[in-house]
Amino acid sequence: MERRYPPTRWLPADGANHTVSDRPGAHPVDFVVVHVTEETFADTRRIFQDPRAKVSAHYLVGSADGRVAQFVREKDIAWHAGNWDYNTRSIGIEHEGWTDRPEYFTDALYRASARLAAAVCHRYRIPVTRDRIIGHSEVPGATHTDPGPHWDWDRYLELVTRELICAGPTSTQGEAHMADIEAARTAFNRFDVDGDGFITAAEYKSVMAQLGDHNVTETVAQAIINKKDGNGDGVLSFDEFWASLDR
Ligand SMILES: [Zn+2]
Repeated sequence: MERRYPPTRWLPADGANHTVSDRPGAHPVDFVVVHVTEETFADTRRIFQDPRAKVSAHYLVGSADGRVAQFVREKDIAWHAGNWDYNTRSIGIEHEGWTDRPEYFTDALYRASARLAAAVCHRYRIPVTRDRIIGHSEVPGATHTDPGPHWDWDRYLELVTRELICAGPTSTQGEAHMADIEAARTAFNRFDVDGDGFITAAEYKSVMAQLGDHNVTETVAQAIINKKDGNGDGVLSFDEFWASLDR
């Protein structure tokens, strides 16, 4: 079963702005590259659909509402990183806004993008780490500065992790991959605040609140834990957490 992608509108880029390929067979997909457009959503769409532009990205996330448009199929190579090797091995996610205008980096934008990135990471077994989820400015040889100093990387990676922990990565053939186990351990450790090896409802609630979700009361947290709690002791061990993910 595929990890659920956010609702996405297909707005194909002009064929002159990307390279048809057959990934991940032709090239492994190792990175997610985070961009900020320095344009409006509408202007970015115009650029990607203009055959003279010679630029594209797989996805664009809108600032105000977190809407997601897809311009290039993931199997194909979008021209976004300014580095052919990285283009061949990455998925490019553009975010509507300007690097020096942090008000464009809304809650809706972070959440939609994190859900998208979680789905991409799960599909290609990309670990949710800062050396695999990178900014355009971090691509070797990059002349661009996006996403810039106002992009909240800690928050973004927490949200991607949260997407993995809440919905639970579903393994395609039921086999465990190392990247999945590592991502799960990282996620588990973030929620196990006191490091005792168990996630309690109070810990779950407090981490969700830190992530900006104040709707998760302790009762709700307990209900989420109970669904994954194999031995019925009311707290979640890593084994129980892992078992609940790998069904
Ligand atoms: Zn960029």
